[in-house]
Amino acid sequence: MNSELRELYQEIIVDHSKRPRNFHKIAAGRAVEGFNPLCGDRLTVYVVVDDDKIVDVGFVGNGCAISTASASVMTEAIKGKSLAEAHAMFAQFHAMVTTGATPDPALGKLAVFGGVAEFPSRVKCATLPWHTLEAALEGNEDRISTE
Ligand code: ZN
Repeated sequence: MNSELRELYQEIIVDHSKRPRNFHKIAAGRAVEGFNPLCGDRLTVYVVVDDDKIVDVGFVGNGCAISTASASVMTEAIKGKSLAEAHAMFAQFHAMVTTGATPDPALGKLAVFGGVAEFPSRVKCATLPWHTLEAALEGNEDRISTE
């Protein structure tokens, strides 16, 4: 990754951590609380699914810049997507942040988190919103922890 791209990615992460998008509860949504004890990140993801499609998604909570920005960019990326598309995005995202794999261009803005692979202690911050989303989509649990 060249330094200009790295700077741009950093700016996007800072922007989303300071002004998170879709940062609100959704009364009609399924809610799951996610906790990352390693960092102390705690957030609740709300999701509304209709006819196999994510029609609305939001989150609230307190976390570090990475977890907040990751949740914010995630909500933007998955809104309007099918469950299969969202699941495929998470698989790509997970591979990118754990192995440094070059992301599929279809990941779009989610690629800004590629640098997380260099900081293993932050991987759970970046993936917490996604694990929480998966739990909400599966509908089996109302609380998850990364540990
Ligand atoms: Zn964190």
